[in-house]
Amino acid sequence: MQEIREYVTIKKEQIKAYVGTLTLKPKLVIVQVNEDKASCAYVNGKLKDLNEIGAIGELIKLDTSITQEELLNVIKGLNEDETVDGFIVQMPLPSQIDEEIIKRSVDPIKDVDGFNPLSTYLSATSKGILTYLEDNNFEFSGKNAVILGRSNIVGRPMHDILLNKNMNVTILHSKTSEEDRKFYIEHASLIVVAIGKKYYLDNRYNYRDDCVVMDVGINRDIDNHLYGDCIPTLNVKFQSPVPRGVGLLTRLSLTLNLIECYKRRHNL
Ligand code: NAP
Repeated sequence: MQEIREYVTIKKEQIKAYVGTLTLKPKLVIVQVNEDKASCAYVNGKLKDLNEIGAIGELIKLDTSITQEELLNVIKGLNEDETVDGFIVQMPLPSQIDEEIIKRSVDPIKDVDGFNPLSTYLSATSKGILTYLEDNNFEFSGKNAVILGRSNIVGRPMHDILLNKNMNVTILHSKTSEEDRKFYIEHASLIVVAIGKKYYLDNRYNYRDDCVVMDVGINRDIDNHLYGDCIPTLNVKFQSPVPRGVGLLTRLSLTLNLIECYKRRHNL
């Protein structure tokens, strides 16, 4: 498997070359309604990616006291704005705002995050993992996949994607017994871990020789460093690092979804 950072750099160069051929540049707007440090880092990373591929990135930062009605109005404006190809509403949102209502209010054709259940795009993290595995010739068909975590943004979409690739897919969650957990994990050729617990997965299991682990977890510890859901030294064929692993693939997917969105909107 190719090193993720190197893989992402090459893919971004390819996207940049494509954007270079366009007279009208793809435009993505990010709406941020928080002062969250991690969110600010994600937003800056996304804006940097857009700049690197030659697309237009714009940040709309709103006051955290905004009402749901006011935010819905901003979204309505972006849905209708012909100059905007795609936009995302950065999570989390302030407590007075219902995140599900907001996710569902984004026009599915502009929803490059894939958060709206009606979105025509794959959710960015799952798409990033899929594209990376495909480009690295991972053999999906007939193999066992285990996903730890059943969130709407990672675990569940990942399940459907891998099922469509003809894998035998099992989702494990907090209520899975240790006995079953051991059984499924030790039979898996692919493990996607998205639970948000530092170093949860370690070498207490006997992994298959061909096992590939994609670590989605991002856990900021009191030392302010980022840690994955897995220890960095799993006895597996390949594991994605944290940081500079799935996070980079997620950001890459956002640019890929933006290009897809642009092509659809401009009938290319
Ligand atoms: P989430 O909403 O935080 O939910 C956690 C999930 O993990 C729940 O489904 C929970 O099960 C399950 N879980 C908890 N302990 C478990 C255990 N011991 N074994 C199996 N499952 C367990 O999930 P999320 O939003 O997908 O986030 C998960 C992690 O991924 C976080 O660290 C987040 O920061 C990170 N993340 C990273 C990216 C990226 O781009 N790299 C993108 C999104 C999220 P129950 O449903 O039973 O409670």
